Amino acid sequence: MLYIKTKLKDGRTVKSGIKENNTFARCSECGTEVPVQLGELFAAENADPLYTDIVCPECTKKRFAKQNITMEDMVLLATALCRLGFCRQLLSLYTDFGIEAIQELEPEEYRNFADALLCAVTEDGVI
Ligand SMILES: [Zn+2]
Repeated sequence: MLYIKTKLKDGRTVKSGIKENNTFARCSECGTEVPVQLGELFAAENADPLYTDIVCPECTKKRFAKQNITMEDMVLLATALCRLGFCRQLLSLYTDFGIEAIQELEPEEYRNFADALLCAVTEDGVI
């Protein structure tokens, strides 16, 4: 088991195991505490997983309230939600839309896909 070791001011050392359900990050936009799926975070293609900006589902949703969604936005959305542990919901939407990668989406499908994805994430009780 991996654990973190922190030295307190009084000289004592605290060890705490790193588990799937006890790792959190602050949303880089609103500061809300968000649970982090470490496995997903390290599996995603991040230059440095430990310094990745985590954005909460609510802030991700706000970003998508704007009108013109680009492929770049779609990739960012997919990556952000995957980091938060929603890869399963993303893959199930790929099936619904008949695609194997986000890049296969047609521009007119961006809005529907983003809404469906954010909805799936909301239904899981995260927001
Ligand atoms: Zn946020």
